[in-house]
Amino acid sequence: MRSLSAVGRSAPPIALLNQVTRAAFAVTLLAGILAGPRAANAAEEVNIYSYREPGLIKPLLETFSKETGIKTNVVYATNGLIERLAAEGKNSPADLLLTAESGLLMQAVDAGVTQPVKDETLEKAIPASLRDTDGHWFGLTRRARVVYASKDRVKLDKITYEDLADPKWRNKICIRSGQHAYNIALIASMIAHHGEAYTEKWLTGLKANLARKPSGGDREGVRDVQAGLCDLSVGNTYYMAAMLKNPDQKAWAESVNMIFPNKDDRGTHVNVSGVSLTKNAPNKANAIKLMHFLVSPEAQRLYAEGNGEYPVVPGIPASALVQSWGGLKADPLPLTKIAALRKQASELVDRVQFDQGPNF
Ligand code: FE
Repeated sequence: MRSLSAVGRSAPPIALLNQVTRAAFAVTLLAGILAGPRAANAAEEVNIYSYREPGLIKPLLETFSKETGIKTNVVYATNGLIERLAAEGKNSPADLLLTAESGLLMQAVDAGVTQPVKDETLEKAIPASLRDTDGHWFGLTRRARVVYASKDRVKLDKITYEDLADPKWRNKICIRSGQHAYNIALIASMIAHHGEAYTEKWLTGLKANLARKPSGGDREGVRDVQAGLCDLSVGNTYYMAAMLKNPDQKAWAESVNMIFPNKDDRGTHVNVSGVSLTKNAPNKANAIKLMHFLVSPEAQRLYAEGNGEYPVVPGIPASALVQSWGGLKADPLPLTKIAALRKQASELVDRVQFDQGPNF
């Protein structure tokens, strides 16, 4: 479909976008009229806006197309896709939104660009805590938010998120921005378990324990542990797999142990990557076929292995590398509960001036 293949990775300005979308829509419509009824069969396709990287998605979509004959068209971007869906409105060619994090799925729901899917296959495959109760989004892979600890300087095999505020870690922890979606979800989970007053104290304690201002990504935290700037960093599990694959980062990965927090009590905080059906999905039936494919054992294995994540479908094994990290005991708190506390978490991050870093 022209409107998808013509657009690059970054989102164009909204005014231009509207023109482009309308023009592309008109071209598609005209092509359909000129080609006559035979074109109907040729248009077995599904259009995807993806926050997830091509390297991860492509092998899956190729398998799907091979099996079903349905073509897939994807726009990849690291930001702006929800805004784009909103701007395109009814003219949007997109059927599905793929994201790397549940916060973006909830943002899409709040922006009114998704529609509910009531579907037995999806509901059977994906545990209720990893999908929206109304069917506006579905988790596809899981990841845990863990502590990366220096092999040389930290002799621990257990830790809790609560421990990260213990003064014994003063100036020893590295983390990315408190406002990043991964940390917001973690902080929201702390509010859910302990209430706001406790979480504010905890976050203040964690801030005091930082070795530097929150910055970079999860991998830079591990880099700084290897460099000796901090002893602990907080990051998602799949970054271990990513660093091990990257010759420039392999030494970072090898300098740390992964500790899964709270494994002796409620379990480790998990989040999901996922999918939403867009509000105006022009190829709804095909989009749902793709959603079914994504929770099939074959796709779950491929998807989770590609990025070192955990499958969402119970009984599907994780990759050998992921299994080598030990079993995952996941905090069963539903992501919808976390979603409801995201705003409160974000306000808390601002209130304690978390991103200002420690006061030396
Ligand atoms: Fe990530």
